[in-house]
Amino acid sequence: MAVRSWQALKTQYCIRADEEVSLEAEMVFPSETLPDQPARVIAHRCSHGLACNQFSQATCMWAGTNPSYDPFAEKA
Ligand code: SF4
Repeated sequence: MAVRSWQALKTQYCIRADEEVSLEAEMVFPSETLPDQPARVIAHRCSHGLACNQFSQATCMWAGTNPSYDPFAEKA
């Protein structure tokens, strides 16, 4: 049976949240009957996205509320 889990890909300071956050990917690992298949990425999220969605302003693409802004892509 395939296994799904969220894994942290990158940790970075976010100026909007004013703290370290993680960019995470939901990975699907194949069952033991297909051991040569690579893991697949089916979704991305930010570890702080749920809290950011409670702000009164649009946040970023990782919170799902502002697809035109990506704080992980910004240079410090
Ligand atoms: S959801 Fe976006 S704005 Fe909020 S902490 Fe994560 S990267 Fe920063």
